[in-house]
Amino acid sequence: MKLLQSKLAQYIEPQKAKAAGVYPYFRAISSEQDPEVTIDGRKVLMFGSNCYTGLVNDPRIKEAAIEATRKYGTGCAGSPFLNGTLDLHKELEHKIAEYIGKEDVMIYSTGFGVNLGVVSALTGREDYILWDEQDHASIIEGRRLSFSQSLKYKHNDMVSLEKQLQKCDPDKVKLIVTDSVFSMEGDVADVKGIVELAKKYDASVMVDEAHGIGVFGPGGRGVCHHFGVADDVDLIMGTFSKSFASLGGFIATDKEITNFLRHHSRSYIFTASITPASTAAALKAMEIMQSEPERQENLWELTNYALDGFRNMGCEIGHTSTPIIPLFVRDNFKTFAITRDLLEEGIFVNPVVSPAVAPHDTLIRFSLMATHSKDQVTTALEKIQKVFRAHGIIK
Ligand code: PMP
Repeated sequence: MKLLQSKLAQYIEPQKAKAAGVYPYFRAISSEQDPEVTIDGRKVLMFGSNCYTGLVNDPRIKEAAIEATRKYGTGCAGSPFLNGTLDLHKELEHKIAEYIGKEDVMIYSTGFGVNLGVVSALTGREDYILWDEQDHASIIEGRRLSFSQSLKYKHNDMVSLEKQLQKCDPDKVKLIVTDSVFSMEGDVADVKGIVELAKKYDASVMVDEAHGIGVFGPGGRGVCHHFGVADDVDLIMGTFSKSFASLGGFIATDKEITNFLRHHSRSYIFTASITPASTAAALKAMEIMQSEPERQENLWELTNYALDGFRNMGCEIGHTSTPIIPLFVRDNFKTFAITRDLLEEGIFVNPVVSPAVAPHDTLIRFSLMATHSKDQVTTALEKIQKVFRAHGIIK
């Protein structure tokens, strides 16, 4: 115990940030996750949510969750493999399969668990996983748990991906895995290019639509549908923790693959299934995403307005074209200090530092919801301009 304590005592980064009064994590919210939230008794504007549809406080979804809790109770007390499958889970799987346009769907208790359990199970010792250097941590962990050979390609770079594909034994399985919208910098994967290369080299493709669903495609079906390549993508992953306003995740693919995964994917088998409330909430959110396209339209209007605003004030925003807008600061301490100063000004944003991004790519992650008003975005732009100027990030 002493050895462990003395080893961990050397990890002083959080203490340094706390001592400087800029520690930016675990800020407790005491209200709904609406465009306006309450922190320490004060109302602040929320520009750090991943619920792009803004459905997280929708009364219809809350009611569906309460109804499911009344009928099924608060938990499932077991794995889907044994006593944890409800008819409600089956209904959600069936409706997502229809929505995404795949033969079958499996529901996991988190999106992290989907990537961990799918990526690690599908490829064996002689096979290959090809992954984008900016893929989400859950894909990287799945790759680490797999016994296959790991080939990283440069971010969204098809020349680099092709070079890696050329290294593979043509007779072995090759699985290319990418985020559809990259979670920290908001740029969109070249899914068309990936699908073309996959065809050329007989590889399989898995796309993580965590940040694509609810934002892109008809009815919010995601980037693969937006670019018309969903049929060519073998596995589409999604999470309920963002646009679906719930918790959990899914993989949509062919029956042969789900049949294998249902019996081999360890983060599916050895954990309890999602609660009745989360299941019902996801079902209702999916229904609303399809019946209220005006949400998506509003989200895009706000996104384009904010993108123009940040460009005009001279912020460096990388290659984003989505509701995830990275505001590059390129300095850890300044990123923390700006996060604190913006909160004081009534604006909640997320600081993103290494290892979520490379150390020199430190940024403030600004994200939009369909339920924000234009006035709220204007206020945020003004406050960000003021604070960024004060820290010398823009003129
Ligand atoms: N994939 C991506 C791209 C993500 O951004 C996240 C969550 N940040 C996940 C997977 C994990 O999803 P969940 O929150 O449902 O575990």
